Amino acid sequence: MNVFSDTAFDGHEQVVFANDKATGLKTIIAVHNTNLGPSLGGCRMWPYASEQEAIHDVLRLSRGMTYKSALANLPLGGGKSVIIGDPRSQKTPELFRAMGRAVEQVGGRYIVAEDVGTSPEDMEQIASQTKHVGGINDGSDPARTGDPSPFTAYGVFIGLKEAVRFKLGTDNLTGMRVAVQGLGHVGYHLCRMLHEAGAKLIVADLNNNSVAAAVNEFGAKAVSVEDILAADADILAPCALGGIINDRSIDTLKAGIIAGASNNQLQHDRHGEMLREKGVLYAPDYVINAGGVVEVHYCREGKSVAETNKHIEGIASTVREIFERAKQQNLSTGFVADRLAEERFGLIRKAA
Ligand code: NAD
Repeated sequence: MNVFSDTAFDGHEQVVFANDKATGLKTIIAVHNTNLGPSLGGCRMWPYASEQEAIHDVLRLSRGMTYKSALANLPLGGGKSVIIGDPRSQKTPELFRAMGRAVEQVGGRYIVAEDVGTSPEDMEQIASQTKHVGGINDGSDPARTGDPSPFTAYGVFIGLKEAVRFKLGTDNLTGMRVAVQGLGHVGYHLCRMLHEAGAKLIVADLNNNSVAAAVNEFGAKAVSVEDILAADADILAPCALGGIINDRSIDTLKAGIIAGASNNQLQHDRHGEMLREKGVLYAPDYVINAGGVVEVHYCREGKSVAETNKHIEGIASTVREIFERAKQQNLSTGFVADRLAEERFGLIRKAA
């Protein structure tokens, strides 16, 4: 079992393995970097095939949170936790209370929140054991449902508009053709915002009901899941899966701008360079999908929805700085985003 030599280790400050025999809890809590503040990141529950797979995943995700929070201008570092287990069959309130005690033992250097396989109810159980938890909705603001997705969608909308402004020199989305891949929690909210701004939507999802809803509500044009990436559009907004910009898809893309919510849209870093060479402006995913983490932090701090949205609007200036630097230096936007994040959280790498 490798930890220090895992390819995603990248100087993690702390990795905690915790076990509770009575409830069967097996968790790994990874704290990548706390230079800017306590680390915050979701708790993923997943039936990992091996412990090595769980270690790699938690390290990779926690490092990603350092970069995301730094570029979102939050006083937070990056961390993440995983629970090894099947969320469909192995969840109990006791398990999450044991998780809460494990988080408490990290002493505030890690703040836990929801992620794949965990729910607001699970966070309530955790909160009975530790105050180091986010994503708890006290019900005091009806504009908050406990779901960060609308805030993520708002950040993506802000980032997308900034990309349009940078590349096409206009603020006006009227008549712009936007292809949205995935009409889930984020994609559907994004469609509503784009529709209200006058954009023409082209949509695809595996779920026919979501597609029918978008056609009815927003007058969207439906295309197959096979055709959405190559749709005749000005902007592509991936809101479903990672790795969709790859050797197979890159030549077929017609959109001049890519701006969406999905994490890890580029299969490899070199695909960012290929997009640049092709003249496609790519808004780095983790920069424009940070609205959810901003919401988790602001909700925890007792701040209003208006204050949260104002902070999310700051995504525009960050992504513009990335676009400008990338243009001046002939570098891919993804590369520039990573270097800017490192400047902010204080990691100076030797020249690549
Ligand atoms: P979701 O599961 O609610 O929605 C994903 C949608 O994509 C589903 O409707 C699914 O049917 C559809 N889909 C799956 N495969 C598809 C395919 N091949 N073609 C078209 N549609 C397909 O997820 P979400 O919460 O909306 O998140 C979307 C993406 O954004 C994910 O990559 C997620 O990691 C990322 N993200 C989400 C948040 C958030 O706040 N929810 C925050 C940051 C990043």
